Amino acid sequence: MKSYRKELWFQVPTRREFVHITPQVEECIRESGITNGLVLVNAMHITASVFINDNEYGLHHDYEKWLETLAPHAPIQQYRHNDTGEDNADAHLKRQIMGREVVVAITDGHLDFGTWERIFYGEFDGRRRKRVLVKIIGE
Ligand code: ZN
Repeated sequence: MKSYRKELWFQVPTRREFVHITPQVEECIRESGITNGLVLVNAMHITASVFINDNEYGLHHDYEKWLETLAPHAPIQQYRHNDTGEDNADAHLKRQIMGREVVVAITDGHLDFGTWERIFYGEFDGRRRKRVLVKIIGE
């Protein structure tokens, strides 16, 4: 069995953003030389997510609106976590909803996806450098 590990770095200029990362994950699969196996992609920060869904702008707008309804950023005083002097309690909650990681099958050197499945990095407390781990195992 072969294994491969890489960290992808992101610095989103805004507080929140969804970044399509399927091409970077496919590049990792090519680099790994693994043609059949599994790829794990996870956010290495507790205020960011990795998730799979449609690469469609309207849907991303809907996510933003929905997440702000569930865990609005302001007023920041509404959250006990922000008593520590931070202002990112909402980002922790949004990360929990959108998930930490995805695992995708690799078949014949490609992501074995359903038709509309794509991988996204969800940033909820950006404007600083953050990492995503890509781990691939297989042969
Ligand atoms: Zn925090």
